[in-house]
Amino acid sequence: MSEDTIFGKIARGEMDANIVYEDDMCLAFRDLYPAAPMHILVIPRKPIPRLCDAQEEDKALLGHLMLAANKVAEQEGLGDKFRLVVNNGADAGQSVFHLHLHVIGGRSLKWPPG
Ligand code: AMP
Repeated sequence: MSEDTIFGKIARGEMDANIVYEDDMCLAFRDLYPAAPMHILVIPRKPIPRLCDAQEEDKALLGHLMLAANKVAEQEGLGDKFRLVVNNGADAGQSVFHLHLHVIGGRSLKWPPG
């Protein structure tokens, strides 16, 4: 689970992605298989596999990711109409084991998901 992933490769610039935002701690790129008209993934540069692997020392980074998601939503014109999703673990639908926030919007969203 601590193995390198495609998102690690994207973060290091070794694999192409449609990047819409980046800074020193994170980057955001369009999901290859969007679940909505707007579907962007925000990932930390640090390769934390799952949210449950985050440590006390990652507190500022986790906050930074959420604020980056806000910036991306604003930048993409979603305003206040978007959803943030973190799938934690395979049983919750996580398929890439590098922490990521899904920013989903551009259509009306139902609740509960899945
Ligand atoms: P999860 O299932 O929560 O781990 O989310 C992984 C997401 O990554 C899925 O929504 C995939 O569509 C997306 N994905 C997989 N490979 C790529 C890629 N190379 N570039 C962008 N998004 C990807």
